[in-house]
Formats: sequence, C-alpha cells, structure tokens
Amino acid sequence: MATKNVAIIGSGNWGSAIARIVGRTTKANPDKYGERVNMWVFEETVNGRKLSEIINTDHENVKYLPGKKLPENVFAVTDVVETCKDADILIFVIPHQFVTRVSKQLVGKIKPDAIGLSLIKGLSCVPSDGIKLVSDEIKEILKIDVSVLMGANIAPEVANDNYCEATIGTKDKQKNGALLKTLFHTDFFRINVVADTEAVELCGALKNVVACAAGFSDGLGYGDNTKAAIIRLGMMEIVRFVTQFYPGAQLSTFFESCGLADLVTTCYGGRNRRVCEAYVKSDKPLAVLEKEMLNGQSAQGPLTADEVFELLRKTNSLEKYPLFVAVKRICKGELKAKDLIDCLRTHPEYT
Ligand code: NAD
Ligand code: 13P
Repeated sequence: MATKNVAIIGSGNWGSAIARIVGRTTKANPDKYGERVNMWVFEETVNGRKLSEIINTDHENVKYLPGKKLPENVFAVTDVVETCKDADILIFVIPHQFVTRVSKQLVGKIKPDAIGLSLIKGLSCVPSDGIKLVSDEIKEILKIDVSVLMGANIAPEVANDNYCEATIGTKDKQKNGALLKTLFHTDFFRINVVADTEAVELCGALKNVVACAAGFSDGLGYGDNTKAAIIRLGMMEIVRFVTQFYPGAQLSTFFESCGLADLVTTCYGGRNRRVCEAYVKSDKPLAVLEKEMLNGQSAQGPLTADEVFELLRKTNSLEKYPLFVAVKRICKGELKAKDLIDCLRTHPEYT
C-alpha cells in the first residue's frame, strides 16, 4: 500500500498539540504514512521574527504552545495550497470562523482522493438554514470525505502527554477509521472510532456553549452543585438538539470522550469557561476579554451560541433549550449573568 502524506491546516493551541502526536505517529509508522508533515501557519511576527521561521528553526510554536517542542518532521508552511497539495489526509484545526475562506482556497488544488478530518469545534453559519456542520461545509467545498475527531482534550494537557481519550466519527470505519486511528492512537491519547459522525461533531461544538454557562456560574460564585446542574442540563440539551436536528445517533455516543467527558473538562478547564467567568467579574465585553486573556487564541462558545440561537428561532424551538438561549442572550448583553438561574428553574427537563 502506498504511504499517505499528512497535512495539518492550522497551528494554534490545539493544532500545535496535535502536531506533536501526528509528527510522532507518522515517523513511527513509515509503512503507512509519509514522514514529513506540513503544518499550515497563518503567518505573524512574534518578537520580531516570523512565526513560521521560529517553528522551523526552534521547533516550537512560541506563541500558541510555548514550552513544548514540535517533532522535527513537522514543517511550518505559510501557503495553504503548498501545505496541502501532496496530502492524502487533511487535518483541519482552525477556529471555525475561518474554515470557509481557507477551504475555498484549496478548491481544485488538492488530490481528488484525499480525505479530510475536522478537529474543529464549532458550526458553520448559513444565513438561510441556520447552521451547517463544519465537516459538511468542508465536504461541500472540497468534494472529499470528511471525518471528525473530538474529545476531552485541553491542548496544553495533551501536549504534556497526560493520559486522555478522543473519539473519531467516520462513516467508513473499516478503511478511513483504521487509517485515522493509527495516526492518533498513542499510549497517552486513546482513540475510539464510532459511526455517529454528526453526533460526535455536535457534542464538540455544543459543549462550548454549556461551558459559557459554567463560566457565568463560576463568576457568580455559585459552586460545584450549580455547575453540576449546568453540566447535566447542558448534556440533556445536547442530546435533545442532536435528536431533533440530526436524528439516529446511538445513546452510547454521548458517553464517548466527545460527549460527557469533553463537556466536563471544558466546564472546568476550558478557555470558554475562563473568559465567561471574567465577563461576569468585569465590565468588559467578551471580545475584549478574549483579546486580553487568550493571546490570539479563540473562545468559540459565544459565536456558537449565536449560531445555534438562529436555528432554534427559525424552527420555533427556543423554549426547549433554555440554557443555550440564556447563554446567547447573556453573551449579547440582553440578559444579566445572574438571570441564568431563572432561565434554568423552569427547564423542560423538570417534568
Ligand atoms: P486557537 O484558538 O489557538 O486559535 C489561534 C489560531 O487561529 C492560530 O493558529 C492563528 O494563526 C489562527 N488564525 C488567526 N486569525 C486567522 C485567520 N484570519 N485565518 C486563519 N487562521 C487564523 O486555535 P486552536 O486552539 O488550535 O483551535 C482550533 C480548533 O480546535 C477550534 O475549533 C477549537 O475549538 C478546537 N479545539 C481546541 C482545543 C484547545 O484546547 N485549544 C482542544 C480541542 C479542540
Ligand atoms: P476551550 O476552547 O473552551 O478551551 O475547550 C477546549 C476543548 O475543546 C477541550 O476539549
């Protein structure tokens, strides 16, 4: 079997952490993968030097994953077409607001039989329909098969090689599932492959909205019981959302790493939680806090809450999702954070 070349589209906090794994697994499996891994870098200047040059010389992404070495077979490339033109496996790992523009640059420039894998936790916004899965957006633009990888994976912890898990969702478990699993499965990063691609992806996107509610609760000083209630109600809204808009998922998928586990870790350790806690404690807008606190990284929950709200409004479903709706309204300044609990008190889960 010919070896498969791998390209990573993105080099942020998660993109860099995943490059550490993929650089190692491609090298360890020369019968399956080309050793060189191209990683697309959105060029910027850091301390007077180009980030791509720093990565290729010092083998460290000093801005987005400082203190962690990248394998020497991972090469920073600043042209996205150059990054991907010889790749058989395209790993998409950029904040979701950039995915359409970046994917369009690749039209007609990639191998026709390449496969995609999205690590992006977010949704694509479609003015007429409300939302689209990011994997569907990439699939439609590039006409390739796109699987997803989601899980309880706070990037700096993964980069520390702390034990964790992730879920790959793919329609082709036999071929693509096996190929992708070997690319990520290590002693410290354990992979399960399931066929419920849409549910896996939606768990990843929607948990960021719940994490915002957890952040509001922390900012208000409500403690762990309240956060547990938010996690539980958030989980119920995630299941309800998948059942309503993408029916057919197995209940077991919600208990994979992409489901309950990611929800818990993000509600305790994630950037969305942190920024939303600060939103309650300061009088600064979320965009300002994101800039001040995250050094160029992105918190995707508020944007996702907005996108989800539009779909719920268009389908007359707002009352079934009080937590998602409250997060959107608090992020937009239409409600105060302290109103969150009033929104949850009459939740449809209380029969
Ligand atoms: P990030 O939040 O670190 O974002 C910064 C990245 O965005 C940088 O690579 C930057 O160059 C890039 N960027 C900035 N402006 C851009 C533009 N105009 N066009 C294209 N790229 C631009 O990114 P991340 O943490 O790697 O997250 C990527 C995806 O992975 C997100 O969907 C996120 O939810 C998901 N994810 C993140 C983590 C985590 O712990 N960081 C874990 C799992 C999944
Ligand atoms: P945050 O984007 O909130 O940091 O969440 C990271 C994540 O997806 C952990 O699995």
